[in-house]
Amino acid sequence: MTEPENPVALVIAAHPDDGDFGAAGLTAQLARRGWEVHFLVCTNGAKGTSDRAMTRERLIALRRDEQREACRRMGAKHVHFLDHEDGELVYDRVFLEELVRAIRTIRPHTVMTHDPQDIVIRDSFINHPDHRATGTAALDAVYPTARDHLNFPEHLEQGIEPHKTREVLLWSGNNPNYDIDITADVELKIEALLAHRTQFGDREEFIQFAKERWRSEDGRYLERFKRVVLQF
Ligand SMILES: [Zn+2]
Repeated sequence: MTEPENPVALVIAAHPDDGDFGAAGLTAQLARRGWEVHFLVCTNGAKGTSDRAMTRERLIALRRDEQREACRRMGAKHVHFLDHEDGELVYDRVFLEELVRAIRTIRPHTVMTHDPQDIVIRDSFINHPDHRATGTAALDAVYPTARDHLNFPEHLEQGIEPHKTREVLLWSGNNPNYDIDITADVELKIEALLAHRTQFGDREEFIQFAKERWRSEDGRYLERFKRVVLQF
């Protein structure tokens, strides 16, 4: 496999654990090949509990620690957090600027994020509005906003140069066109997700759920993406 000149990947996720569900196996594979992988989590994760005794401050801190541990397990060395309210993420200029700044600073070859194109997924799920806002803003940040110096020109004054991302991988859409075989990494993916202890209480139950739900008909485990290779 030929590696790009700048083997850097940026995972842009709405909530803690989304990037792990979407791309933990690929993240681990890239990290082993020497890629620098960054995670950017856009919301604070403050809605992710059914425990009525949990305070929001404690949950936000716990979920950030869980994401850091999950990234350690995947081999993603850099974790960044924005502070948007979980469940209330809106696509606006403020959010777009944050993503453009991240792309121009981290300078990824590959951006991985939510596929925002479908509201209903495989007739079984509603794609969370935070996921759609994140995927849409991330795509707009990749093209055209981060590439053109006239967008957010204050960045130039701060020494932050425009950047062209070369590849985008979107998870959880209805029309994937690019499969990564993660059969050898499925245990690692499960361990990364289990770092999110506030989300998956019963370890054995989650392992069983994951191994059954994720297995393809031929017995392999895949991460499926819509891949976009940007030509210019
Ligand atoms: Zn989510």
